[in-house]
Amino acid sequence: MGTTPHPTAIRFVEDDHLLEITFSDDVTHEYRTEILRGYCPCAHCQGHGSMPHDWNELRREPEVLISDISQVGNYAICIAWEDGHNTGVYSFEILRQIAEEPSEVLGDYPPEQMDDVDW
Ligand SMILES: [Zn+2]
Repeated sequence: MGTTPHPTAIRFVEDDHLLEITFSDDVTHEYRTEILRGYCPCAHCQGHGSMPHDWNELRREPEVLISDISQVGNYAICIAWEDGHNTGVYSFEILRQIAEEPSEVLGDYPPEQMDDVDW
């Protein structure tokens, strides 16, 4: 869809809570899973889905461990988390924005809680 680069490789480094995504333009970004989950874009987490996305406080480690990733159409991936939450659909476009211009798409970035997340 359009010219947004799509992922060509995705790797979850569980011990470090990192998701590494390589895109079709050979750019690789690393994402802390705390950020991906804390700003989960689903309607349940974001209400009406206005931008920027709101931070939702993290409470337990399974919330930031990925159990499955599936592709949605040709524009997004869906991340399922170990606590059972599986409604977050991350478009390729927002994934690039989270890495490249986070304060444009993530409210109150970086979130205060990030300083003391220590499972
Ligand atoms: Zn959600």
